[in-house]
Amino acid sequence: DLHPVRRALLSVSDKTGLIELGKSLAERGVELLSTGGTAKALRDAGLTVKDVSEVTGFPEMMDGRVKTLHPMVHGGLLALRDNDAHVAAMTEHGIGEIDLLVVNLYPFEAALKRGAAYDEMIENIDIGGPAMIRAAAKNHAFVNVVVDVEDYGVLLEELDQNDGQTSFAFRQWLAQNAYARTAAYDAAVSNWMAGAIGLEAPRRRAFAGQIAQTLRYGENPHQDAAFYTDGTERVGVATAEQLQGKELSYNNINDTDAAFELVSEFAPEDGPAVAIIKHANPCGVARGATLLEAYNKAFDCDRTSAFGGIVALNMPLDAETAEAITQIFTEVVIAPGASDEAKAIFAAKKNLRLLVTEGLPNPQDAGLTTRQVSGGMLVQDKDVGHRAMDDLKVVTEKAPTEEQMADLLFAWKVAKHVKSNAIVYVKDGQTVGVGAGQMSRVDSATIAGVKAQRMADAMELPESLAKGSAVASDAFFPFADGLMEAASNGATCVIQPGGSMRDDEVIKAANDAGLAMVFTGMRHFRH
Ligand code: 5GP
Repeated sequence: DLHPVRRALLSVSDKTGLIELGKSLAERGVELLSTGGTAKALRDAGLTVKDVSEVTGFPEMMDGRVKTLHPMVHGGLLALRDNDAHVAAMTEHGIGEIDLLVVNLYPFEAALKRGAAYDEMIENIDIGGPAMIRAAAKNHAFVNVVVDVEDYGVLLEELDQNDGQTSFAFRQWLAQNAYARTAAYDAAVSNWMAGAIGLEAPRRRAFAGQIAQTLRYGENPHQDAAFYTDGTERVGVATAEQLQGKELSYNNINDTDAAFELVSEFAPEDGPAVAIIKHANPCGVARGATLLEAYNKAFDCDRTSAFGGIVALNMPLDAETAEAITQIFTEVVIAPGASDEAKAIFAAKKNLRLLVTEGLPNPQDAGLTTRQVSGGMLVQDKDVGHRAMDDLKVVTEKAPTEEQMADLLFAWKVAKHVKSNAIVYVKDGQTVGVGAGQMSRVDSATIAGVKAQRMADAMELPESLAKGSAVASDAFFPFADGLMEAASNGATCVIQPGGSMRDDEVIKAANDAGLAMVFTGMRHFRH
């Protein structure tokens, strides 16, 4: 199944590595064909190249829309070399075999990134390139197709190992790669068009993803995994720069994302904030006068769980906070920057991963979330729901004080990032108890209460930190029992969506217990 490479067609927009590849192929006796710009670049480097227009007998025309769309090209790519009729057709029409196709497409994704105008986007849709890629990939029984600059070296290695030939298995590998590229390319085009005509993101039909990294394993060591980026270049874990530490794992990426998305709810203008995440749930979130104070308060919330956690900051890491973080085992720290001193402190901890970003994600930026189910995929808008003070409705006889209101809004922001059922107790800009992921809201309230008591024990305080706290519930209390559980743990004010059939009962229970309660009219389920 080895097949020699004697004639190659090179047509690339990104000319990186082109000259080296052209030289290496020429040295191996491969004849080179090329389109305008590619041919010029090769010729300027002293290589002998035949123009595709010479092969087709047609000039490149219509602003390059029609260059390679011709039987002299497509026949050379698609003909079966072991089929008599195909060979006869080649002979009759003077079509030469093309054994290798090297194409990278018009930079549509780059045009998208720079926000090019409609007409410019249209001109960046490559037609001849994908047509050739798909043709060559279909005929991988004989033809090699390379669509990625990164694969030039792999190709040359294969040629060297096989005396100028390639194996069927290698060509198959190239072909599946090639179809992945054209699929992602067309998905990007479709997504852009869907956006241009105003289709909401979940109604767009194409999903574009590019593999960014194969991971050592998935959620568990027996699961294979990879990280795909969607080309949006959003600020966050996908675009962060890793300054030190081991390679990120699947769980690290998932948790780091959760941590950074949560902490970005707290604008740096309002002061430092820190979130510590374990298994995608916060085990401590706090504001402070300094970053160090915020970190210490977040850490105090659940010192046991913070071990091996992921820490996200809403402002650049400073030296004193770096010092505090290194006191316990931490997996990952992500921040919009780090001082040189902080970096030096972390450098001593080889395994600690430090990720820095250019700023914070905007929690109001639209996006998609997807989830695989058996036989399909669920797609929805990212939860960008937001509630400010003016959106809240006081439903009890007592209204929250100013301090209570600040803690209620803080608790609400955190609850949005806690797996449902979520119950969060907050006092003075510090989570003091988080109940996550329970099937019953009452259980979440109980667990958060237990955590608040443990926190007090660890800090040798006389009473539970839930005493006098604000409590947030990510969805309404269907009965009064969950609310009463929170009250019995010491909560004195409540924020929740409202909207239960039994709201009256719940409000009465709140009044009887002397609680102040506000409704948001919006829930934040997160499963
Ligand atoms: P060059 O820089 O060599 O002039 O052009 C290379 C680019 O043209 C490549 O990105 C290739 O995919 C694209 N291309 C090759 N043939 C055709 C064609 O017939 N139509 C269009 N629209 N693009 C083509």
